[in-house]
Amino acid sequence: MKKISVVVPCYNEEEALPIFYDTFVKETADMPVEWEFVFVDDGSKDGTLAGFRALHQKDDRVHYISFSRNFGKESAMYAGLEAATGDYIAIMDVDLQDPPALLPDMLRGIEEDGFDCVATRRVTRKGEPPIRSWFARAFYKLMGKISRTEIVDGARDFRLMTRQMVDAILSMKEYSRFSKGIFSWVGFDTKWLEYENIERSAGETKWNFWKLLIYSIDGIIGFSTMPLAIASVAGVIFCIIAFLLMLFFFVKALIWGDPVAGFPATICIVLFLGGIQLFCMGILGQYLSKTYLETKQRPIYIAKEKK
Ligand code: UDP
Ligand code: MG
Repeated sequence: MKKISVVVPCYNEEEALPIFYDTFVKETADMPVEWEFVFVDDGSKDGTLAGFRALHQKDDRVHYISFSRNFGKESAMYAGLEAATGDYIAIMDVDLQDPPALLPDMLRGIEEDGFDCVATRRVTRKGEPPIRSWFARAFYKLMGKISRTEIVDGARDFRLMTRQMVDAILSMKEYSRFSKGIFSWVGFDTKWLEYENIERSAGETKWNFWKLLIYSIDGIIGFSTMPLAIASVAGVIFCIIAFLLMLFFFVKALIWGDPVAGFPATICIVLFLGGIQLFCMGILGQYLSKTYLETKQRPIYIAKEKK
């Protein structure tokens, strides 16, 4: 019998945790596999860890890791994948937005259809603020243009993977992790299942607009160097414009002389170019700061308790 490890990152999820466990056990009862749970407490400030301990007492298939502080979902997923010992590994949110009922289909995708990974994407963004949906769409469109790594619109982290694929993911030890990119970068054959967005079972979302925006910038910087090229292209374009203007003013002065005029235009041009320069320096800075963090080689997470 194959063993499936279920990696579940949790941050302040004491309410959702028991609902997840009960629903999961009930809905997967007749799957012919052995289960292992790897819960990761991402530095929760509520009773999440106590919940893990209680589950571990009651069910010896339950393992957990507790972080010394909040490291973010990306780090929690990494820790969970590292600790998982199954033949296949699933990543799931604890809020039941990733329905366990899809697992039999996912398993069939791997065992019968021969895929290395069965991933899920939501086709609707029901129950999400429209502005957030709009930004999300814009982000996926932009990524599609500027990154060679394919990032699928609406892809969730909910997926079932083979051991081989998980080992490939674990071999990517980068500190700034953007899983949607990493999953795609490692390759392997992925089957996509689609489903409608489901509302959270309990508790609140841990993501706000700014967190998502910063996360998307991480994604762009992690999986595309196009913004750096934009800076050089802008530089070349402005040099050409400057050269043409120089010629124009030179000829103009030869023919009509050079009375002092055009002060407002000068100010506008100086400000505009100053803005472009700062913008390009900002882009450089973003890449530099990521490089700086990577060179420090800090651990992706620090565990305080592990069972
Ligand atoms: N999560 C985490 N660390 C964080 C934020 C979130 O481990 O810093 C977990 C959270 O407990 C949940 C999953 O990541 O199991 C997805 O979070 P959430 O449901 O808040 O995100 P949403 O579904 O709203 O995108
Ligand atoms: Mg959720």
